[in-house]
Amino acid sequence: MEEKRLEENRHLREQLDKLLNEARRNEQTQSTFDDFSLSVVAAQGPKELFSLLLDEQKKFRIDEIRLCLVDRFHEVERLLTESYQNSYPGLSFIDTETSKLLISDIPDRPVLGTRIITKYDWLINIDETSMYKSAALLPLKRGSEIIGIQLLLSKDEARYNHSYGTTFLQKLGAMIAISIENCINRQRTLELGYQDGLTNAYNRRYFDERLKHEVDRCSRKKYDLVCLFIDVDFFKQINDKHGHQVGDAVLVRLVALMREQVRSSDIVARYGGEEFAIILPETGIQLAHEVAERIRSQVERQKLIFDDDTLGITVSIGLASLSQIKFQMAKDETGQTTDMPESLDQMLLKKADEALYQAKQTGRNQVVIQKMAC
Ligand code: GH3
Ligand code: MG
Ligand code: MG
Repeated sequence: MEEKRLEENRHLREQLDKLLNEARRNEQTQSTFDDFSLSVVAAQGPKELFSLLLDEQKKFRIDEIRLCLVDRFHEVERLLTESYQNSYPGLSFIDTETSKLLISDIPDRPVLGTRIITKYDWLINIDETSMYKSAALLPLKRGSEIIGIQLLLSKDEARYNHSYGTTFLQKLGAMIAISIENCINRQRTLELGYQDGLTNAYNRRYFDERLKHEVDRCSRKKYDLVCLFIDVDFFKQINDKHGHQVGDAVLVRLVALMREQVRSSDIVARYGGEEFAIILPETGIQLAHEVAERIRSQVERQKLIFDDDTLGITVSIGLASLSQIKFQMAKDETGQTTDMPESLDQMLLKKADEALYQAKQTGRNQVVIQKMAC
């Protein structure tokens, strides 16, 4: 009798220890998760946020993570990847026009199981699909609107069983959605500080910073880069004849036209008054010359009509390339130079400005490439 009681006691103690251990483990997981959540909410910028969501998060026994964001107005990708300069493996974007069906098919609450893998295989590399045995799909929502999805993949079939509760994942999805929204809004605000109020082109402050960055990046990767300097011809006459408001409208139209002629990753800036500058990264001088010529001829061709009067607007463009400046520098090294050493970006701007001056001096409405000393 006594022995049976002792046996029961031992069994109960073992059960209790097991429960206690499990509770401690859960507490530890909860605490790690709380730390993770706090870092996600406090992330400074897209780089930190996506490194947390796509890498750090794997420490919760997740083998692979995919994030897909709905890009309704074609601006989220540009904002989060800083004008397409950065990409994050595992992050993709879908737009509402081409992916209407996909978006309307996203569930309202998290879904677990194995079937999700085949259903969302467009988020996974074809040859990797068979590696994963279970998955959790979390809708990311702002109110009732879907802003994206997160797919958590596991090689363990038991990891995400469809019968498990999803309240925790629902909270996780809400927290991630808020953090992504915050990040997008933060990028929007940052961008406003970099924009020219009239034309919405980048302002000079942004241009100078970005030129430095792009010159460094292209130098490192051994790409060429071209800078265009653009000035409206006889702009003062347009103001004098038609008024400042018409002048303003011309500047706005010119920016739209320049943007139409370059890639979305090129940088169009208003450098001052009626002067614009464009950075064409990873572009050689020949292609850049074609782009500049296209801008020049499109401006000339298009007839802007104000007060029943057709305005004949033309622009002059100066062009300088990084490779030519480096070539010049290499040549100069053999001779003696007395000038203060300038940074590459400053030299590039100076050369493009000189070429523009040349274009103005020799007739306007033309593109001139920087002259190189022999
Ligand atoms: P050039 O062919 O030599 O460049 O002649 P220009 O008349 O364009 O050059 P100038 O530098 O003499 O005149 C530039 C004019 O641009 C003077 C200024 O009033 C006008 N301007 C500068 N900023 C703005 C602006 O924001 N809006 C309007 N409407 N005009 C501006
Ligand atoms: Mg000017
Ligand atoms: Mg001018």
